[in-house]
Amino acid sequence: MNLGIISEKLRLPEWRLRGAIKRHSVQVLRYFGREVLVFRKDVAGVERGTVVFGEEVLRGYPKIKRALLLRAALASWGAEQVAVEEKLNGYNVRVALVAGEPVAVTRGGHVCPYTTARLAEQDAIGSFLKEHPEYMLCGEAVGTSNPYVVHEYAEAGAFGFFIFDIRHRESNRPLTISEKHKLLEEYGLHGVPLLGVYRREEAAEQVLELVRKLEKEGREGVVLKDPEMVEEPLKYTPSATNLSDLRHAFAYPYDYGRDFLFSRIMREAYVAVERKLSAKELERAASELGRSILLPMVESIRRVERGEVLGECYELEFRSEEEMLQLLEFLRRQGVSVQVEVLDGEGRRVMLKKLRHASTDRIRAVLRNGT
Ligand code: ATP
Ligand code: MG
Repeated sequence: MNLGIISEKLRLPEWRLRGAIKRHSVQVLRYFGREVLVFRKDVAGVERGTVVFGEEVLRGYPKIKRALLLRAALASWGAEQVAVEEKLNGYNVRVALVAGEPVAVTRGGHVCPYTTARLAEQDAIGSFLKEHPEYMLCGEAVGTSNPYVVHEYAEAGAFGFFIFDIRHRESNRPLTISEKHKLLEEYGLHGVPLLGVYRREEAAEQVLELVRKLEKEGREGVVLKDPEMVEEPLKYTPSATNLSDLRHAFAYPYDYGRDFLFSRIMREAYVAVERKLSAKELERAASELGRSILLPMVESIRRVERGEVLGECYELEFRSEEEMLQLLEFLRRQGVSVQVEVLDGEGRRVMLKKLRHASTDRIRAVLRNGT
């Protein structure tokens, strides 16, 4: 592949690109009969998750800063207005044309065959990209049938895809919110819900109110954006989301780093302060927090005691057995350890269990030795 052209497109000096390849910050793979570069880390401003197929560039989706105290975070908001989008709980997908066909890429920069197949069924995506090959659609894939994040959304069913950004694939420059909505409407594409646009001064109270509503409906939270997409966005999630994150993480405590667990506990402390909880409410929050940590840990220890291997189950429905085998091959290459149970005679309905070996082994050792 021509590293000269690629480094020009990425505005990355060629020696830096070569250095990053040598250090394995950029991985060189082969698929579709072509060489592919995958950025496993940020390299001089080029985001992790950036991927280059031959010479076709797809920049990584940028990290979004989290507001812990919403009022304080918005006090330094640099734009006049704040657009509030719903934050959907699924997995991040970028779709763009590769060799003329729409391809779905994960946050880490890998082509997911399952997601690519689902999105290939949405004609509006293909039509849009063929007329605007310089763009990529960034969105959240959500629903109950996927191997990553299962969350029920009535509007999505088994699989839904909701676009949150349209970006230039080579420069990563986003369209403004109104440019985005105009195109989504023109092509009949689904966007994430836009919950409101507020003046900076009133935004914090409005958002806190909106987030309470979302919380009651079991929805994840919000992403705040400058309508002009100049100011950096912020994400914010309510207590219920933080607790459900904690329940998940503490079910596999040795598979997550200490920082991961700690940062999620701290979120709840800031929520309690921002919500000005009374002594009684704080007691309740403390007990909820404790339950979200202790209950899943105890449950996991008991599971291992009964001889189970810990892991998360995903029930998936494919169009064909071949589609299923492609996904299994993809997960294997990603180093994900899975157990598979075929639920029908045709290999189209499958229960996948992603195994959590670190937690299983460590707990098993403690159960055996007591130390
Ligand atoms: P990050 O690196 O951005 O912190 P993360 O995996 O920790 O990523 P999250 O806490 O889920 O991510 O928050 C960021 C992610 O939220 C985005 O990468 C995107 O997949 C998802 N998302 C959902 N709704 C939106 C939205 N309206 N705008 C932007 N991102 C959204
Ligand atoms: Mg997410």
